[in-house]
Amino acid sequence: MNYFQGGRMDSEFSSSTRTIALNDLDGKDFEVTVIGGGITGAGIANILAENGITTLLLEKGDFACGTSSGSSKLVHGGLRYLQSGRFVEVYRLLHERNYLMNHTGIVKPLEFHILTGATMWSSVELGIGISIYNAMSGKNPIVRHHHNNGEYPGEINGFYSYIDGITVDSELVIYNIVSAYRHGAICLNYSEAASIEKSDGRYRVGIKDTLSGKSYNISSKILINAAGPWGNDILKLAGMPEEENFRLSKGIHLVFPFTVWNRKNAVVIKSPIDGRQLFIIPSGEVAYLGTTDVFVTDPEDFSVQKEDIEYLIDSVKDLFPDFTSENITATFSGIRVLLGPGNDPGKISRDFSIRANENFISVLGGKITDYRVGARKTAKIVSKLLGKNMKIKNMPYIDYSRESDDVDHIIKYECPLKPEDILRRRLAVRLYSADSGKSMEDEIRKKIGGTHEDTYTGK
Ligand SMILES: Cc1cc2nc3c(=O)[nH]c(=O)nc-3n(C[C@H](O)[C@H](O)[C@H](O)COP(=O)(O)OP(=O)(O)OC[C@H]3O[C@@H](n4cnc5c(N)ncnc54)[C@H](O)[C@@H]3O)c2cc1C
Repeated sequence: MNYFQGGRMDSEFSSSTRTIALNDLDGKDFEVTVIGGGITGAGIANILAENGITTLLLEKGDFACGTSSGSSKLVHGGLRYLQSGRFVEVYRLLHERNYLMNHTGIVKPLEFHILTGATMWSSVELGIGISIYNAMSGKNPIVRHHHNNGEYPGEINGFYSYIDGITVDSELVIYNIVSAYRHGAICLNYSEAASIEKSDGRYRVGIKDTLSGKSYNISSKILINAAGPWGNDILKLAGMPEEENFRLSKGIHLVFPFTVWNRKNAVVIKSPIDGRQLFIIPSGEVAYLGTTDVFVTDPEDFSVQKEDIEYLIDSVKDLFPDFTSENITATFSGIRVLLGPGNDPGKISRDFSIRANENFISVLGGKITDYRVGARKTAKIVSKLLGKNMKIKNMPYIDYSRESDDVDHIIKYECPLKPEDILRRRLAVRLYSADSGKSMEDEIRKKIGGTHEDTYTGK
């Protein structure tokens, strides 16, 4: 089989096909190479492959091992952005939210209660905001303020209810990756872009297989930097000017058994400590609480610090006293790319930035929710650079959905290479099951081989 010629709609995407692709990789030339296998890179590779562009995607860890498995997993319009008048952004996010809820099968509607009262939001202001939000999303703008009839503690006078989307972020990435692969892209996990040089109008990329240590060299007409928090490292590697005001902010989440929450709806509250907006989100056998927003300097720093845990627990302890540190079953975190000046991470834009410098395009920042917008804008630039017409409107589609959660199926069609790839990112039972996936570990290790060290640090 020739893995470098597109169109493999039903084919295997596994450790074996990865080996075949690597064995044949040295010296290959691509139209586009995408560095980074989070949602940004996955969406871009998908739209390019759907247009028949020869595309290579490199991910130094597993697909979605960066921020795209550590987000709050909301597919939303950003209700709070209305406060700062960001109507165009909210409209765009709502449009994408609706598309993803209606067309992917892995973004589900979730009811949110946003609380009102002296320590929360004013009911009049919030009522107007939610009416606008609903109207912009094409829903009935008439909203009703619900009085607190004992659902919430006494100081809460009521709540508004609205719908947003919830997903498993890492699965959305994997679906885009498999879709890109099925349309002909070469998608390699555990394959790091280790060196970048430019000669004869082409980028020469040295690739390191981070499992075997073997090296490969390819060339590419266009290079796309979708390395998220590592974005400036890639610019440095390529000898390009770094992004000014490139900063990172970490957000952590605490996972609790569902019984601690016991409600079908999510809730939005204000932290009494600093007035920040926090969520509690029910999902499967758990409910999670998040998130923080703290500057960090290291893109690898996904650690969950004691003071961050204390901040979240202290923020909800009066309203929801069962959210204690003893009840935490797991934690997860992500690192935002912030591109702007200022000392308050909460006030710096999270919108994506796309910059093209000759044939080198950096796509950094953004949200899970609008990854398709970033992919379309990038595809337009690629289309011009290659002088090829491309189908961009309403793209990319996801041409894959998992037939079953059977481990053998996942091993054959979603290219996990380590047990944690399944436990954390394909099935994500580390987060969503009451036992953090422990009951499945042995079966998965036996099937996939447990030779690689696992990095699970959840409690
Ligand atoms: C706490 C938090 C909560 C969030 N919640 C939401 C939310 O609820 N809804 C929403 O829409 N958005 C949310 N976001 C935003 C969203 O998660 C991010 O915008 C998105 O995940 C960024 O994806 P990415 O692909 O750009 O980056 P990443 O997912 O970090 O991917 C970059 C990838 O590049 C790889 N890489 C780096 N260097 C190399 C190299 N040399 N070679 C190969 N690969 C390399 C990394 O391993 C990584 O996998 C949240 C973000 C945070 C931090």
